[in-house]
Amino acid sequence: MAAALVVRGARVAIVGAGAAGLAAARAVRDGGYKATVFEAATECGGTWNYGDIAGKSSMYENLRCNLPKEIMRFRDFPFRETRNSFLGHQQVHEYLLNYAMTFSLRDLIKFRTKVVRISPSTESAWSVTVTNDESGTPASSEHFFDAVVVANGHYSTPNPYLPPGASRFQVRSGRTVTHSHLYRTPQPFLNRRVVVLGAGPSGTYIFFAVFRSIYERLAFYSCRRSIPKNSLIRCFLFFA
Ligand SMILES: Cc1cc2nc3c(=O)[nH]c(=O)nc-3n(C[C@H](O)[C@H](O)[C@H](O)COP(=O)(O)OP(=O)(O)OC[C@H]3O[C@@H](n4cnc5c(N)ncnc54)[C@H](O)[C@@H]3O)c2cc1C
Repeated sequence: MAAALVVRGARVAIVGAGAAGLAAARAVRDGGYKATVFEAATECGGTWNYGDIAGKSSMYENLRCNLPKEIMRFRDFPFRETRNSFLGHQQVHEYLLNYAMTFSLRDLIKFRTKVVRISPSTESAWSVTVTNDESGTPASSEHFFDAVVVANGHYSTPNPYLPPGASRFQVRSGRTVTHSHLYRTPQPFLNRRVVVLGAGPSGTYIFFAVFRSIYERLAFYSCRRSIPKNSLIRCFLFFA
């Protein structure tokens, strides 16, 4: 939290209503501060909000968590009983929605409101400029806060690294390079020849999903070593 002087009753802006933003909102409000959460998407849950284009979710159809729910939970808010420890993304999203509901956080959230600028201000510690498109026409407004919590996540923008030669592959007509961030379902790959680059959780999962859908053609899986670090955000699909 960046703050000059934060006293009880101070106004705190929170950017993002994903898992981190929701937890921050609860702590800030319960600590006696005035919390306002700005969320660009139409619903909370962050990257687990699969259906929300504005929120730029990185989730894909049938994604299962790579951590058991017992260690993904907030300390005082367990997941509901399930036979399986490794949940689907819908169940995690439902859990975060329940968290927001149970702790009355929704009233603190301004949905469809994107923070476009945060700067020091003479009026208060921070000036926060937001755009809101609820009425259909984006409207910009400035708000003043004593402190700001940035909880905007780090998976909404794909890693810009592209392997050498990728652009040449792309310009050949009918051939495409895409990033796992934009992958949703295997359907677009039906009857295509596909190579998946990256052997982290996303690369592995997407490879098997695509492979199952295109078993008539070949799917190649390319990785430098067994599980490269950070490969979740470095998975590319080349298809022709
Ligand atoms: C494919 C994938 C699989 C994963 N699997 C697991 C797993 O199995 N287990 C696990 O524990 N973690 C997993 N993670 C990690 C996941 O990122 C965290 O679980 C958690 O969702 C991070 O929460 P967050 O609140 O930090 O960020 P996010 O969930 O990204 O939330 C950020 C929020 O900020 C909003 N926002 C961003 N910029 C602005 C802005 N300028 N103005 C207003 N709002 C803004 C976004 O719309 C979003 O709602 C996975 C991540 C990915 C991408």
